Amino acid sequence: MALIVQKYGGSSVADTESIKRVARRIIDTKRKGHDVAVVVSAMGDTTDDLIDQALDIDSNPPDREMDMLMTAGERISMSLLAMAIHAAGAHAQSFTGRQAGFLTDARYGAAHIRAVKPQRVKDALAQGDVAIVAGFQGINALGDPTTLGRGGSDTSAVALAVALGADICEIYTDVDGIFTADPRIVPAAKRIPNISYEEILEMSACGSKVLALRCVEYAEHFSMPLHVRSSFSHRPGTLVLPEGVDAGSIPNVQ
Ligand code: ASP
Ligand code: MG
Repeated sequence: MALIVQKYGGSSVADTESIKRVARRIIDTKRKGHDVAVVVSAMGDTTDDLIDQALDIDSNPPDREMDMLMTAGERISMSLLAMAIHAAGAHAQSFTGRQAGFLTDARYGAAHIRAVKPQRVKDALAQGDVAIVAGFQGINALGDPTTLGRGGSDTSAVALAVALGADICEIYTDVDGIFTADPRIVPAAKRIPNISYEEILEMSACGSKVLALRCVEYAEHFSMPLHVRSSFSHRPGTLVLPEGVDAGSIPNVQ
């Protein structure tokens, strides 16, 4: 039995049907005997839509209110996903960044994670429940919500995986892993089955948008294995493993 953190991006939870599909996938992993903690992004274009609404009202909105607004997106997806798991006959509890113990510095819109104290998440897992955590958010020393910068849910997932001592952090997206080029644009692009943290950082530096840069740095620093894969297929994706870790030892690859 392993402890698996699964992160589902906005395209994987874009509508209620997708949320139900993801719920089934989480339950499947659980039924294989694993403990599962999930980090979710906001549904589809929610974050962009919230920003547009804010800018309609004020071309220069207060940073604190922007983070108050943007953290609402992940709150919607996490609670709907918990309901979908419940409706499918399993148990889940959702947690905001604050409830999950994500403590950040004071910088609204681009906060850095200072510590993760996920006691509520551990308690939920110990009860046999799926724990679902809102990505992209934490609280500052004032107790106000902060966001980690666009695409920050990847970093939330890795930080949670590190704090829980997870065996693997699975990053679910809408393509089968990391490719030599964007497969949505270049059909001949090939999936890269294994890649190092350094190689991804080099790709990110030249504009590849596979994973948030900070998430890869964080994973490398704490030697957290990553599996980037599609939530729309069951094919293995791309494994990013620390030196000396064998792909055969990674749970839930098939
Ligand atoms: N919802 C946030 C964004 O769109 C965070 C994320 O998706 O990782 O940037
Ligand atoms: Mg998003």
